[in-house]
Amino acid sequence: MKRSKARTQVDEFFGRLAARNPAPKTELLYSSPFTLLAAVMLSAQATDASVNKATPALFAIADTPAKMAELGPAGILPYIKTIGLYRTKAKNLAALSQMLVDKHGGVVPADRALLQELPGVGRKTANVVLNAVFEHPTIAVDTHVFRVANRTGLAPGKDVTEVEDGLDRIVPDKWKMHAHHWLILHGRYTCTARLPKCPICPVEDLCPYEPKTPVMPASVTPRSQPKKGGFSRPRAVAASPRGKRARG
Ligand code: SF4
Repeated sequence: MKRSKARTQVDEFFGRLAARNPAPKTELLYSSPFTLLAAVMLSAQATDASVNKATPALFAIADTPAKMAELGPAGILPYIKTIGLYRTKAKNLAALSQMLVDKHGGVVPADRALLQELPGVGRKTANVVLNAVFEHPTIAVDTHVFRVANRTGLAPGKDVTEVEDGLDRIVPDKWKMHAHHWLILHGRYTCTARLPKCPICPVEDLCPYEPKTPVMPASVTPRSQPKKGGFSRPRAVAASPRGKRARG
């Protein structure tokens, strides 16, 4: 496939997702850079819904690094018991907060390396914070983005770094600011892990994934037959990225 054609198709891909949701946002609840950082860190290997159930009560009493550090792991733990890996995350959140107080004057730094020095903060969390808070055009790769990038052939890769590098190369600058959220929402609600909703997918004709889901339940109207063309065929890869425990 000619490079120019692939570029055109990538542009079309994001144009269609953008048409459905022009200004996508994170579904995590937060009220400040610090509470977003905390929520994203807590969401590693857990659902946003589980985090959103826990954080309102926690943030009501500790919405700053100083207050969170004061609470300490033992004080944080009862609030996040419904979130996976809560013991490790309670320790990380307390330590992260203390480091923000000690090294950054209680302010979340707008710098990837400094963010990744914080306990429990990996590249994905740093990318989400840089994008959502500081408007950097970063594309964080979580399990949904990883799956969509591979199935569609948009940016095939065997691990998150390979997929992130591929997306960084292929996504046009004009779509980069929201690319993470479009891909994550597409993976969460349409290109779902077990039964992708191919018949109602807005990019079905651009996607070479096989086998596609042939029909959806009767309540859903299938789209017309796919047109010719699409991205290059995806390689066989793991269903989800490999990652470290409790570090997102
Ligand atoms: S056509 Fe199916 S596999 Fe391809 S992106 Fe859409 S939902 Fe996912």
